[in-house]
Amino acid sequence: MRLFAKRHGEPTFARGGVHPDEHKELSAERAIEPFVPRSVSVPVSQSLGAPSVPVVKKGDRVRRGDLIASDEAGGVPVHAPVSGIVKSVDRGIHPVLVLDLSITIEAREDDDPPTFPEIPGWEALPREAALERIRKAGVVGLGGATFPTYRKLMLPDDAEVDTLIINGSECEPYLTCDYRLMLEQADEVVLGAWLIAKIIGVPRCLIGIEDNKADAGAAMTAAIERLDIAHRDHPVQMEVVVTQTKYPQGSEKQLIQALTGRQVPQRSLPMHIGIVVQNVATAFACLEAIRNEKPVIERVVTISGRGIAEPKNLRIPIGTMINPIVEACGGFSDEVVKVLAGGPMMGRALGDLNAPVTKGTSGLLFLIRAETNLDRYSPCIGCGECLDACPLGLEPNRASVYIEAGRALETEEFGVLECFECGCCSYSCPSNRPLVQFMQVAKAAYRNEAAKKKVAA
Ligand code: SF4
Ligand code: SF4
Repeated sequence: MRLFAKRHGEPTFARGGVHPDEHKELSAERAIEPFVPRSVSVPVSQSLGAPSVPVVKKGDRVRRGDLIASDEAGGVPVHAPVSGIVKSVDRGIHPVLVLDLSITIEAREDDDPPTFPEIPGWEALPREAALERIRKAGVVGLGGATFPTYRKLMLPDDAEVDTLIINGSECEPYLTCDYRLMLEQADEVVLGAWLIAKIIGVPRCLIGIEDNKADAGAAMTAAIERLDIAHRDHPVQMEVVVTQTKYPQGSEKQLIQALTGRQVPQRSLPMHIGIVVQNVATAFACLEAIRNEKPVIERVVTISGRGIAEPKNLRIPIGTMINPIVEACGGFSDEVVKVLAGGPMMGRALGDLNAPVTKGTSGLLFLIRAETNLDRYSPCIGCGECLDACPLGLEPNRASVYIEAGRALETEEFGVLECFECGCCSYSCPSNRPLVQFMQVAKAAYRNEAAKKKVAA
């Protein structure tokens, strides 16, 4: 990574945050490479909310890009990532949900593979038609949130939104997939951002990039000028804003504060203060959806950690199993003690390498003992480090003590319902207390309680 020289004085969020070791040098220089699997197993749950409904059955022949699960009951449309034969529609592993209905396709050579050419007139497509292409393509928040993008862009009539923020922060350690996308396909990301700005009708777009990725910022700035974004049929003042490198700079509320000084009130959405946030990979997917009618059938994933022989950034068809990806990266180089889907701060631990890549998988990390903390945790020593680290000013220390005492339903006053599970508290705790997990336990207890009351009512 060449331009990782950090400057100081760039904007950032006001409260808390941590500076974990970045480890991005492992994969930052690795240009995006394609990966071609022999088979895929595509879970039907690819977005927040209800699962999609399979529209294919065992024995069907499908082509890359064909619809295989519809959004008729919620979720997002899901498409065949490879051409081939449907081998099964059955329960399979999901990296987040553990188990999910999955469509397994054995790849077969396609004599005339779909290429998704540019569709004339895409730049002038009316708003409704552009939104429909985003819906049909199954675009979700590819930063990991997996919220259906068309729903986020269908603003209510009374919304007064003036700014689009494109999130290029990629603040999680190890991950470099967004960094490589901005370096290698800056024009596409910028055009996607312009299309989103046009759909939501805003004249301003800020692209937030941390100062450890200054070369990506330069590439994006050059693309904005080259594409003359300020003088298109929907002119947009688009600007790269370099922020400090500080975790969790890429979370929506923290990025909004750093870039605009505005604060999203508790239990409110960014649109309530005039802002829509989208990730750089989502902007790229929106362009492909509108310009090429190409569905989300693949994504860039960072394969990293000191346990993998050759860290890489791969463009991987959705549903590809982790095992062949490990093989393509030279296998394990050391004893792997932890496998994560996503980054080390907010990622999910995987217990099985037969799990597939989903639309929400930004990284696969193979960590060795020296990169992980598997020590047992001990009682709180009252040091207050977690309080200083929490970007929301919550009290995970006190919540954890109550939860240990079996009093999870008495923790609302410590902010458990506001917690967005960034992991800053756990990271900074000298007693190694799993504070995020404690917060998750408390949130689950409140959810169960609410469900019980609903049933009883
Ligand atoms: S995980 Fe929750 S409590 Fe911990 S620092 Fe993040 S927001 Fe605060
Ligand atoms: S950082 Fe850990 S030990 Fe310190 S106050 Fe918080 S929970 Fe207690």
